[in-house]
Amino acid sequence: MTNENTLPGTDAGELSGFAALGITGALLKATNAAGFTDPKPIQAQAIPPQLEGRDIFGIAQTGSGKTAAFALPILSKIIGLGTKRRPKTARALILAPTRELAVQIEETIKVLAKGAHVSTALVLGGVSRFSQVKKVAPGVDVLIATPGRLTDLVREGDLVLADTKWLVLDEGDRMLDMGFINDVKRIARATAPDRQTVLFSATMPAEIAELAKGLLKNPIRVEVAPQSTAAAEIVQGVVFARTKQKRQVLSTMLADEAMKSVIIFSRTKHGADRVTKDLERDGFKAAVIHGNKSQNARQKALNDFREGSVRILVATDIAARGIDVPGISHVVNFDLPDEAESYVHRIGRTGRNGMDGIAITLCDPSENSKLRQVERIIRTKLPIVADHLGSPDPQRNPAEKNERFEPANDRNDRNGRRDGRRPGGQNNGKKRFGDKPAFAGERKPEGVKPFKGNNKRRFGGKRPAARAA
Ligand code: AMP
Repeated sequence: MTNENTLPGTDAGELSGFAALGITGALLKATNAAGFTDPKPIQAQAIPPQLEGRDIFGIAQTGSGKTAAFALPILSKIIGLGTKRRPKTARALILAPTRELAVQIEETIKVLAKGAHVSTALVLGGVSRFSQVKKVAPGVDVLIATPGRLTDLVREGDLVLADTKWLVLDEGDRMLDMGFINDVKRIARATAPDRQTVLFSATMPAEIAELAKGLLKNPIRVEVAPQSTAAAEIVQGVVFARTKQKRQVLSTMLADEAMKSVIIFSRTKHGADRVTKDLERDGFKAAVIHGNKSQNARQKALNDFREGSVRILVATDIAARGIDVPGISHVVNFDLPDEAESYVHRIGRTGRNGMDGIAITLCDPSENSKLRQVERIIRTKLPIVADHLGSPDPQRNPAEKNERFEPANDRNDRNGRRDGRRPGGQNNGKKRFGDKPAFAGERKPEGVKPFKGNNKRRFGGKRPAARAA
C-alpha cells in the first residue's frame, strides 16, 4: 500500500502493516514486537479514521482485534503529550463491562505501549479501593475501568474526568445487559465535551443505536463479521440428560484426554460452585470464576486456566464474557443460558484463531424451550450427540425438526446416529453413554459419540473403531 504522507523515520513510498495505517515510532516497534504485524480487518478499518480524530462506532466481538483497534490511535496521540498530567485525572478512559475484560485490555495496552512511557491504571470493583485511589492520584494516561467503581470514585471526588479527551465504551451491548447504561451516560457527561469517542458492541440492539446517537459525533461505522457467522469452525451438539444425570455425563466426558482445555458454563453462580465441587469429588482439578469470587480469585482462576495448570474452568456467563484464552478445545454448557444470545458468546470461547472447537450442550427436558430458542438464533438444528432420557421425548421429534435445517440424508436419530443403530454399535443398551450400569466402577465407558457428519472433529479424539478395539 502506498501512503502519500511520508512518516518520520521511515523511507518514503511503500509502507506496510501498521505503519501503513499511520502507527509510528515506539508504538510501531512494540506492536510488531508483540507479533502484530498484519492488521486485522477491524484495525485496518478503525485506526486511520480514529487517527484523524473521528468518532468510531464498531460492531465487533472480543477476538476480532478490537482492543488494538481502539488503543493504538489513543496511545499514539497520548505519547505526544508528555508526562505532565493534572492530579486525579485520566487522559483516556476505557470502560469495560467486566473486571476480566478490563484486566485483559490493560494487559494488551501495556504490551502495545511498551517502551513508550504511558501510564495505565485499573479501577474495578471487588478489589481494594484505596490502592486505586492512590494510583490515580497523580493523574494517569489511560484508565481502564468498570462503570460501578468508577462512578464511586468520581462521586467521592477521587477522580475528575473533565480532562478526559478519549472515551472508549467496550462491549456496549453487555453494559446494557448488565444495567450499566445510566452509569455510562453519566460518566460520558463528566468527560471533556470535545472528547473523541469510540463505541464497540458485539451486537446492535436498538438501545445501543440510541446510545451511539447520544454519545458519538458523526461517527465512522466499522464492522466485522458477527460471531454467529464466524463460528463456522465450531462443531456443536446436544446431549439430552436429566439434571440429576448431568454430573455423571460431564465427568465421563471429561475423562477423555482429548478434552484438553474445557470451559464449562453454568447459568448461576451457585450452580458453578456445585459443578466445581462435584468435579473435584470425581477427581478432576477445576478452577471456577463467577461474580461472587474476589477479583484476585477470579484472576488466579483465569491465569491457571490460561497457563494450563488446570484444564477445566467453570464459569458463569457474565464472568466469562470477553475472556480471550487461546486454544480452548471444548465448551460445555452444563445448562442452557437464560438468554439465547449468550449461547453464541459461550461457544465463541472455542474455535478461535482458525482452530477447531467443539461445543456441547447438556439439556434437561425442562430446558427444551430454551434449546429451541438457541436453535432459532443460530439457525441450526443442534445434532444429538447422546440421549440419556430413556423414553422418547414427545416434545422433540428430531426427524421432523431436522428437516428444517439439514438435508434429508444428513439427519441424526435420537441416539445421534444417522443409521438408526444405537451408539456403540452392537451394544445391548447397558453401555450407552450415561446409562447407570456403564458408570459403575468405570470412569470411561463409551464416551461421547462423535458427530457422524465430521469424523475428524469429535469429543473423544479417537475414532469409534479405535475405541471398540
Ligand atoms: P481482542 O479482540 O482485542 O481481544 O484480540 C483478540 C486476540 O487477537 C488477542 O489475543 C490479540 O493479542 C490478538 N491480536 C489482535 N490484533 C492482532 C494482530 N494484528 N495480529 C496478531 N494478533 C492480533
